[in-house]
Amino acid sequence: MATDMVVPIFRGEGRISYERRPRPTVDASDDVVVQVEACGICGTDLNILSVPPAHKATPGIIIGHEGVGIVAEVGSGVSGLQPGDRVVIANRLTCGRCAYCRRGLDNQCTDYQTIGTTLDGAFAPYLRAPARALWKIAPSVPRDDAALFEPLACAVGSVKRVPFQVGDNVAIIGAGPMGMLFALLYRALGAGAVFLVDIAPYRLDFALAMGMEAALDAARVDVPAEVKRLTGLGADIVVDAVGNQVGQAVKLARRGGQVILFGLRPHDNPPVNQYTITRYDLTVHGTFVGLHPFAQTIQLLESGRVRPSVLVTHRLPLADLERGVELMRSQQAMKVLIDLSL
Ligand SMILES: [Zn+2]
Ligand SMILES: [Zn+2]
Repeated sequence: MATDMVVPIFRGEGRISYERRPRPTVDASDDVVVQVEACGICGTDLNILSVPPAHKATPGIIIGHEGVGIVAEVGSGVSGLQPGDRVVIANRLTCGRCAYCRRGLDNQCTDYQTIGTTLDGAFAPYLRAPARALWKIAPSVPRDDAALFEPLACAVGSVKRVPFQVGDNVAIIGAGPMGMLFALLYRALGAGAVFLVDIAPYRLDFALAMGMEAALDAARVDVPAEVKRLTGLGADIVVDAVGNQVGQAVKLARRGGQVILFGLRPHDNPPVNQYTITRYDLTVHGTFVGLHPFAQTIQLLESGRVRPSVLVTHRLPLADLERGVELMRSQQAMKVLIDLSL
């Protein structure tokens, strides 16, 4: 087996350079080496590679956190995983010791590392990760469904915090991969109508092709009026998958409805009509990456009831990572996977 691999190294300022690196080996007793099968390109990767960056990453590392692969080697202290097992990555390594971890709020850990932003990630033939970052998944789950485990887990974690009733109408602002994962989840949960809102024609067409009840072009239609016309009262649940749409989101909710804030735009400060929230009894949920969503997400993928691979529009070799990033950035792709078998 070759002991070197050629991998894309993040060099800062939106740059990637392909360099030769030694294949990772087991260093610590809880290390696992994974042969990567595929890794999705995430909005976070686009943010890391934009200039100026909209998400931090440590120059010199390999990015990529939406990976699935096969265990190649395990350290002496690893139990529950062995060579040949199929695994997916839960990329945030929380400390387990800070005040938030000790309260069970692991998504608020103040001392975490992340595979693919501060530690080497999965845009590589091999990845080394501590065993606690890896979740075993049945080999029967198609590879491309398993590759979407991490973004799906974020949506699962968000959805599970918000009371939902079968038949609820759901309006989702942002029809990119995250918005579409929310749509697939809510449909699987038994939602009534599911509406997507976006301004990119490619995404609106995609949402309709997936069978969603409506895809509203925010550049052309009065979205609150249209949602009201379609639902009578407004949406029972509104999801902002963009990160700066809270003002619009509260206008789409019916009285007594719920708004889920999921997207992250750290530099935006959108105005919101507080009166609407108070007067119409809206509940606004801030939901960040999900709190312990992983076991349920594995079970969901293993059930086959949600197949996130329907969002995969492109599969590219590792050498084409930058082309994949461009495809997603230009919104001419839904989800792009780096396929390590190509
Ligand atoms: Zn991601
Ligand atoms: Zn912590």
